[in-house]
Amino acid sequence: MGGLITFILDACFPRFCLSCKEEGNLVCARCQESFDDILKHERGDHFASFAYGNPLIRNLIKAWKYDFDPSAFQHLKDLGESTLPEVRDLLKRGGVQVIVPLPLSERRERERGFNQSKMIAEWIGRECETEVADLLRREEGRGHQAERSDEERKEAMKVSPFVYRGKGVPTSVLLVDDVWTTGATMEAAARILKNAGVSDVFYYTLAKGR
Ligand SMILES: [Zn+2]
Repeated sequence: MGGLITFILDACFPRFCLSCKEEGNLVCARCQESFDDILKHERGDHFASFAYGNPLIRNLIKAWKYDFDPSAFQHLKDLGESTLPEVRDLLKRGGVQVIVPLPLSERRERERGFNQSKMIAEWIGRECETEVADLLRREEGRGHQAERSDEERKEAMKVSPFVYRGKGVPTSVLLVDDVWTTGATMEAAARILKNAGVSDVFYYTLAKGR
């Protein structure tokens, strides 16, 4: 049944390569093959697989989060696979015990139907054989980050929207989100983890930049 629905949807709403517009998938085989824009990270405590400034990456993340096209996430995983050794290295170097996805508020997760950070965390957890745990909850009522200026984001994050909900407290965690823009949200979440007793917080995002 799922296959039939996918078949009908594909026939009615054909996909085009976000890079070269060829009909078929969001990333065609040729563009997948020639992709060469893995971000070189410059911070020891944060690793990102891609530069958000790359239009293909930006469009894939948007197709996934806002058009709810799950094939976009599969393409991101395929393109990012070659960066997994660096993620494993960060986990090892940091003595990371638990991978923590950045939570959405309950309402936002209901609207979207999924939490992209959690899906990324589960992918990394599976590939790097590390436990994933929802140690944070996000309180309702703090507006859309995407619609805010950098200054507004920083101001809004002074009062952290996150609450610790874990039972135990690990020593070292990897906090995961889709995009690192100013880092204000990640740092607000890290503050709450540290207040709860976590000693070291490391960061992974699919992409970094704007
Ligand atoms: Zn293409």
